[in-house]
Amino acid sequence: MNKQTIKDVNFSGKTVIVRVDFNVPLSGGQVSDDNRIVAALPTIKELQTQGAKIVLLSHLGKVNHKDPAKTPSDMKKNDMAFVAPTVKKYLKGDFVYCPFTQGAEVEKAIKGLKPQQVLLLQNTRYEVGEEKNDPKLAAYWANLADGFVMDAFGSAHRAHASTYGIPEVMNKAKKPTAIGFLVEKEVAALSRCVEAKEHPYVAILGGVKVSDKIKVIDSLLKKVDKILIGGAMAYTFLAAKGINVGNSLVEKDQLDYAKKCLKDGVDKIVLPIDHVIAATMDNPTDVRNTLSVNITDGFIGFDIGARTIELFKNAMKGAKIIFWNGPMGVFENEWFNKGTKGVCEAMANVKGAFTVVGGGDSASAVAMFGFKDKISHVSTGGGASLEMIENDGHLPGIDIVADKK
Ligand code: ADP
Ligand code: MG
Repeated sequence: MNKQTIKDVNFSGKTVIVRVDFNVPLSGGQVSDDNRIVAALPTIKELQTQGAKIVLLSHLGKVNHKDPAKTPSDMKKNDMAFVAPTVKKYLKGDFVYCPFTQGAEVEKAIKGLKPQQVLLLQNTRYEVGEEKNDPKLAAYWANLADGFVMDAFGSAHRAHASTYGIPEVMNKAKKPTAIGFLVEKEVAALSRCVEAKEHPYVAILGGVKVSDKIKVIDSLLKKVDKILIGGAMAYTFLAAKGINVGNSLVEKDQLDYAKKCLKDGVDKIVLPIDHVIAATMDNPTDVRNTLSVNITDGFIGFDIGARTIELFKNAMKGAKIIFWNGPMGVFENEWFNKGTKGVCEAMANVKGAFTVVGGGDSASAVAMFGFKDKISHVSTGGGASLEMIENDGHLPGIDIVADKK
């Protein structure tokens, strides 16, 4: 990749907008996992060292602008004010928060910035134009600053006003645009998964967002030697093979695509051979490991079974690259966490393998089970890491940044 980085530009005395990914989980009005904030600090610190005046933009959660009845409560729930104290904790006295996305308060706060100071603005999704990449909104933000840095890897697959519109306007105005350290690091790691030069290459897919993720299988089949499928995603594939999956989650409109994948990937796709099942997820009284691949009517598969863990472990042996996205089961529940834990452990123990984990829940699972330091790269982007593989290394929010001179 040949993108301009923050080291290639001198931002001294300049006002620079940094698109960060502060889309962090909240619980009870507090940040429950500040990994994404910590991940943005090296770029912020470098820009401070350069003497820049820094304006941070990020989205937080989802704001439904289509249904006006939902907009106010979504905004209340996803107020950047919940995030600001955690950012302040790391940046101390150099930090200011402004609870608006545009207008006189924002303009005044930016004019008042001194070199090294950092200003965080309100959730970009408070603006109806953000997700539509409204050119007026993008131009407004772009005109507030002298340059732009893209460091929100987790949002780089979205061409929104703050990720794509601003750098587009800045490029035209001959203002500098660059990628930050986090994006640089993510791209370096994920490029190895995209280029697929090292073999055996094993991909592991799971989780619950089947229709979002299933598209990546076509691209993965061209690159990898094996795809291990677990989590809720597995049941759509098993159902496509005519196996009885009981009441497990199946995405009916994906069955034809699953059949096509199974045909194209007949020697590559590995599916579960047993499951941990129960009739309900909460307070189950009837948890059991199935004896075969079939699931009795009335039961739901909530995790891969013990024999599948062994099967997946063996499939990873000797791998040079392992890419994993999506938990193998409902890992938040101790009845159904063994598959995810087993896969984490197996992956961490493959000697000499370059291991990459993408996806918010997958990354939390790795941390929860204590394997974070044993994985080569834990990505801050779920959708972004999958789309990068799907689109052969291209993401709109990175492609739009100026190339090195
Ligand atoms: P990621 O955030 O890593 O991309 P997803 O968001 O797609 O992963 O999926 C994570 C969720 O999938 C978890 O909350 C987990 O409980 C759920 N899940 C995994 N397996 C199953 C299953 N068999 N049935 C229901 N939910 C599942
Ligand atoms: Mg998730």
